[in-house]
Amino acid sequence: MKTHIEISAVNLVHNLKEFRKLSNCKIMFVVKANAYGHGLKEVISISKELPFIDYYAVDSVEEALTVKSVDSKKNILVIGWADRDQLQEIILNGFEMVVPSIDYLKEVKTLAKGLKRTAKVHLKVETGTTRLGMPPADVIKILNGSTGNRSNYVKMVGIYSHFANIEDTTDHSYAQYQLGLFNDLLEKINHQNLLKHFSCSASTLLFPKTYFDIVRIGISAYGFWPSKPTYVSYIEKKRMPIELKPVLSWYAKAAQVKTLEKDEPIGYGLTYRTFDRSKILVVPVGYYDGYDRKLSNSSVIIVNGVKAPVRGRVCMNMIMAEVTHIRTNPVQPGDRVVLIGEEGREKITADHLAELSGTINYEVVARINPLIPRIVI
Ligand SMILES: *Cc1c(COP(=O)(O)O)cnc(C)c1O
Repeated sequence: MKTHIEISAVNLVHNLKEFRKLSNCKIMFVVKANAYGHGLKEVISISKELPFIDYYAVDSVEEALTVKSVDSKKNILVIGWADRDQLQEIILNGFEMVVPSIDYLKEVKTLAKGLKRTAKVHLKVETGTTRLGMPPADVIKILNGSTGNRSNYVKMVGIYSHFANIEDTTDHSYAQYQLGLFNDLLEKINHQNLLKHFSCSASTLLFPKTYFDIVRIGISAYGFWPSKPTYVSYIEKKRMPIELKPVLSWYAKAAQVKTLEKDEPIGYGLTYRTFDRSKILVVPVGYYDGYDRKLSNSSVIIVNGVKAPVRGRVCMNMIMAEVTHIRTNPVQPGDRVVLIGEEGREKITADHLAELSGTINYEVVARINPLIPRIVI
């Protein structure tokens, strides 16, 4: 393997247990986007043993089928939009689905009736994220039957919403406003038999009032703080001390080492020139693999326990790094290189790469190419 991902089962279980302890609530483990790039099958093979995880949330029926192939016991909610063919698959497999509008519910009802199967739905309430969802008034219409959508073929399982502005700020007034709209709606409907949920990682860390019946945990299960503001707010709240441990490490093998003279260019566009006689390592990973091109000339990797700066542009399947200074244990082709993870005293986090490439830790891990082997350790 020229590159692979290692998944720490111990750390994943640790993080999920921390959330169980913190919330004392059932957990819907969010495993969309190939389990945030960690490898869906591999992650489920670990989490299936945890009894307090009641649900998985996935984006698509394809992901739902993968989850089911590894863990057939827990409930699976497809939170992404599905077209007609996919809806049919969801219904036939007994997965649960999001219903974001009255019209969509009509289609679900017709399909379920045709299949003579029950569609299990969660109504998605628009409270200000302006993504999938319907206004509270439409939820009321559906539940009091005035849209004509009540049917033996449709089972109302849950109702939920999602926060828009909780990770990006320490000012949580918009989140409070959204929560208020949701609570106002609950006062107007009979929700006794509905599973109510609203909370993502950040709100679970910060606001017990958002928990309702189950919390939806994504990013922090994988060992990341949703953002710096969330971390700051958490510390200010003096809640239970919590340690999140990164689950993913990314490795590659050293491909070729070459010696360059002074003033030689490196990579496409000749964006870097050596200042002196230099040793350069070629690593067989590039932006196709998920190593962002914005990391050109800016990130570092770890080679034999020492940090090595990336030189020149990130290519499609290759990067180059400076290893001139690595003298006590000089790098040989085939040596292990760390792209994300720890070795010796050095560490590179997804948060660090996110900062360098102008994005968030979510995107850094979610974009790691699914074809790269994931190995559970
Ligand atoms: C992705 C997602 C989550 C998980 O959010 P994290 O910040 O990763 O915990 C929860 N709910 C919905 C609807 C989502 O789309």
